[in-house]
Amino acid sequence: MRPFEYASPRTEAEAVEMLSAHDGQTAVLSGGTDLMTLLKRDVIQPKRVVDIKNIDSLKGITRTGDGVLVGSLATLEDALDSPLLAEHHSVLQIIDAHRAIQIQQNGTLIGDLCQLPQCWYFRNGYGLLAMQNGASLIEGGDNRYHAIFGNSGPAKFVNSSRFAPSMIAFGAKVRVAGPGPQDEEYLPLE
Ligand SMILES: Cc1cc2nc3c(=O)[nH]c(=O)nc-3n(C[C@H](O)[C@H](O)[C@H](O)COP(=O)(O)OP(=O)(O)OC[C@H]3O[C@@H](n4cnc5c(N)ncnc54)[C@H](O)[C@@H]3O)c2cc1C
Repeated sequence: MRPFEYASPRTEAEAVEMLSAHDGQTAVLSGGTDLMTLLKRDVIQPKRVVDIKNIDSLKGITRTGDGVLVGSLATLEDALDSPLLAEHHSVLQIIDAHRAIQIQQNGTLIGDLCQLPQCWYFRNGYGLLAMQNGASLIEGGDNRYHAIFGNSGPAKFVNSSRFAPSMIAFGAKVRVAGPGPQDEEYLPLE
């Protein structure tokens, strides 16, 4: 694994600042179940990893006026145990299907939504557009690993989050913090 700066902010504003300082060369660390593999395999090389686990405002699952707020740090196990999500059967079924107890205890719902592509080329270090020596590997590539038919342009891949379709069906929105310390926006997950 390459060396990187490790940052552990205590507030969202600090986190946004630490992420903006090296724009495009930072990574958010939540449970680390996916990120650590990418770092160890040298698939991504961030200069700075920002661990958000000590930010209290991102914890928990709470009721809001018109719905339920799932904090960034809520694990799959937190979601499974929360009475507030008891009616969201499809989300709970997906968590149950994960099976690996380590992923349920450490992985977060938001980390699952934000996971980088599971594309075989990407995961083997050929980058998001699967390039080697300046040429695209996609069209002439090993089609056992293609996820989409009719792939004639740049690389395409499906989002691998199993939660996304279910949460889109529930009309979920995501809260995006930044780029200014107090900026926030709610976007439809779709
Ligand atoms: C063995 C194994 C089996 C799995 N099986 C399934 C499965 O069956 N179905 C399925 O859908 N998924 C599956 N997953 C994926 C799993 O659900 C995710 O790895 C996990 O939920 C990610 O959460 P995390 O907190 O560990 O994220 P991390 O590993 O910390 O981060 C994942 C990515 O999201 C980014 N990120 C994390 N949090 C934030 C945030 N708050 N804001 C912005 N970016 C963020 C990180 O920078 C990173 O790129 C599996 C993973 C493993 C390792």
